Amino acid sequence: MTGGAGFVGSHLVEALLERGDDVLVLDDFSTGTRHNLGDVADSPRLRVVEGSIVDELLVNRLMANVDGCFHLAAAVGVNLIVEQPLQSLTTNIRGSEVVLGAAAHFGVKTLVTSTSEIYGKNTSDRLHEDEDRVLGSPLKVRWTYSEAKAIEEALAYTLWSAQGLPTVIARLFNTVGPRQTGHYGMVVPRFVRAALAGDPLTVYGSGEQTRVFCHVADAVAGLLALWDEPRAHGDVFNVGGVGEVSIQTLAERVRTITDSSSPIVSVPYDEAYEPGFEDMQRRVPDTSKLHALTGWAPGRDLDNILRDVMSFQRSTGRS
Ligand code: UDP
Repeated sequence: MTGGAGFVGSHLVEALLERGDDVLVLDDFSTGTRHNLGDVADSPRLRVVEGSIVDELLVNRLMANVDGCFHLAAAVGVNLIVEQPLQSLTTNIRGSEVVLGAAAHFGVKTLVTSTSEIYGKNTSDRLHEDEDRVLGSPLKVRWTYSEAKAIEEALAYTLWSAQGLPTVIARLFNTVGPRQTGHYGMVVPRFVRAALAGDPLTVYGSGEQTRVFCHVADAVAGLLALWDEPRAHGDVFNVGGVGEVSIQTLAERVRTITDSSSPIVSVPYDEAYEPGFEDMQRRVPDTSKLHALTGWAPGRDLDNILRDVMSFQRSTGRS
């Protein structure tokens, strides 16, 4: 697994070990941490290699010894992409090319984790996998992330259609939960941290923009369901939660659940990110395709998620 020390990756590693699989993790520990794998660090069935997905020699050497690959390593988080645009592009485009190239060379089945950013500013009621992408200029850094992940999807799909390599694409929608850090922009850990510390919760833009959050445990179950289903090969699936919520309402909910008296303050996008930053006003997944194929459905609602994130931050002091 690439990116196995990251937020989603570490939960997936635990689930695979739990199933009895041997797991080899490749991670450069840029945004992932050893802490994330702390609970399974002593497992004899886990091997962790520190290195980059753009290191072709290393990736090839590791790929030669596995019989399946979950490709999760990527530069993610709006803050990170805005602050390190060049490095993010390289990691996401070149890295995927190297990983998928090696998978194709050794005939290794691969699941790539893509993103709801693929749909860009499309605000459809429920985003189905066939929806059009609505993107701003590629000179706006946010859209470069979407472009990079689209190239990764195209590569994965083409390796299936042209060469018969078993590949699956999962588009993750606002996955949140324990171990996610707010350092790279994600709103839920940022709001919970601020609320617990008595700091202001910073709502960007009007706060009327909406998202649907998915508990990482549900997302991991979705990834495993896809992995186990051969009919998923060569196809793409949304993985997301239920319950559309505005960011203003999210801030209020976080304050209530954490029993905090932190103020909620409004910050313009230009100040939060960079001048000209474009946000999506709405992003709601349609996950019926994944449900129809595997029976998977998300089981945890927003309050569940917020309580889990709060307990994690309280017990570890990490955010
Ligand atoms: N957001 C916010 N305050 C923060 C961080 C994010 O209001 O401290 C907003 C952000 O502008 C976006 C929403 O919360 O409208 C979700 O942001 P996140 O980066 O978590 O996910 P994404 O934008 O990729 O959906």
